[in-house]
Amino acid sequence: MKLLKEIKIISFDVDGTLIEKGFNDLIWYKEIPSLYAKKERISFTEAHKEIARKYEKVGEKNIRWYDINFWLQSLNLNVKWKEILSKYEDKIKLYPDVLPALKRLKKKFPLIIITGMPTELLTPKLKKIGNYFVHSFSTISEFKNVKTPSVYLKICQKLKVSPEKILHIGDHWEFDYLYPRGIGIKTIFIDRENEKKGEWIIKDLRELESLLNKEM
Ligand SMILES: [Mg+2]
Repeated sequence: MKLLKEIKIISFDVDGTLIEKGFNDLIWYKEIPSLYAKKERISFTEAHKEIARKYEKVGEKNIRWYDINFWLQSLNLNVKWKEILSKYEDKIKLYPDVLPALKRLKKKFPLIIITGMPTELLTPKLKKIGNYFVHSFSTISEFKNVKTPSVYLKICQKLKVSPEKILHIGDHWEFDYLYPRGIGIKTIFIDRENEKKGEWIIKDLRELESLLNKEM
């Protein structure tokens, strides 16, 4: 049976899948270290090193890692997320293949978003992408967790659909590919650097449609 016939819903990760990573890097590795350097009266390079160390210490499996307000508060940076956002909002960029693919896919499937980033960061990005999704789940805001297998199960329950009927596409090997696959969701890994090769690996969304016609 073709994948196309097997699935009922297509789910997307956001950062690195639909939205270029540059915006996140600007916030986490430029703006925050700059603010920190100013506050601590140290060089940007020093601040960058220190901040990167702090991020690493928390780690991407901890929800705080994604929580912009946690970082602004814990680093005592006297600035609101909204101010940073208004400074950089126009730097949110979509990969060029995203809109044509979403336009076509929307006609055939309900599309959803499953992201680990909190709503504050998701909302401006969704605004940029447009109205293609019937649901968007921010696992941090809604389930206080990263994209774990149990979070994926909860999402299936909310959608009232069995995991096998969902196809999820994302760029994180564990959070988007292995974990959902482990509970029966069909997964595709998107590698925009085109370094990984494999059966369920694509480099952009143009390749998705031919994969949908593949026999399972
Ligand atoms: Mg991602």
